[in-house]
Amino acid sequence: MTEGFIKREQAGVCWLEPAAILAAGGVRGGFSTRLGGVSKANRASLDLGLRRNDDVDTARENFRRLFGAAGIKGKPAVLSQVHSDRSVFVTEESPARGLSLMREMEADAMICDRPGTVLITHHADCAPVFLYDPEARVIALVHAGWRGAAVCIAAKCAERMICDYGCHQERMLAAIGPCICGKCFETDGDVPDAFRASMGETADPFIRRMGEKWHVDIAGLSAVQLMMRGILPGHIARTELCTCCREDLFYSHRRMGADRGTMAAFFELI
Ligand SMILES: [Zn+2]
Repeated sequence: MTEGFIKREQAGVCWLEPAAILAAGGVRGGFSTRLGGVSKANRASLDLGLRRNDDVDTARENFRRLFGAAGIKGKPAVLSQVHSDRSVFVTEESPARGLSLMREMEADAMICDRPGTVLITHHADCAPVFLYDPEARVIALVHAGWRGAAVCIAAKCAERMICDYGCHQERMLAAIGPCICGKCFETDGDVPDAFRASMGETADPFIRRMGEKWHVDIAGLSAVQLMMRGILPGHIARTELCTCCREDLFYSHRRMGADRGTMAAFFELI
């Protein structure tokens, strides 16, 4: 696998960019690391969590630093992520109302066709999936943990881009960002069962049994789902970086539990 994400750093803030998607032009975007913010202790230092128990003021400052470094200008659109297969189309009115008036929409993917809005999803082991048709000028950003991946959220979002927003599967570019790897993601039988229910034996190459437990490659499963929807294999970028293995770069729910920070993926048309 060719490494599909490039590490960038500016003023101490470090983030990863989906190289092929940015090379196509017309977009800015990336995935945050834990480096370059002002949060302390377990949340050190670039915690971007905006939930009730998070320090929202600190997260705002961290967003300001990250977006300043990465040159992001759009008004933020943020979801209430519920591990579903739902995607929403983001207009200037809703739900892109900034970081203070957000989380009104329960969904796990956003589609957008205009500059001025930056799509944001939150992650701490779940995969971010960037989707882009450079000719149709439509972007999408997906939050795909195992529950979302098991109901094929990335492929369903791509389907909506194709059927409802004029995208074409052979032009579309995809990039699956840092998430928990198959070695770190040890599960019980419910996780493989969920993937086999939606994908049949297509899921098998990405599921390994080790004694009583299972190991599941959620990024690999999302990639195959996108290929099954017609996205070209050469247009799907991946990364070797695992959020659980790489304590130096990322927060991980599996490694740290609930007392941890949160990364964000961000994506905008320009
Ligand atoms: Zn790992």
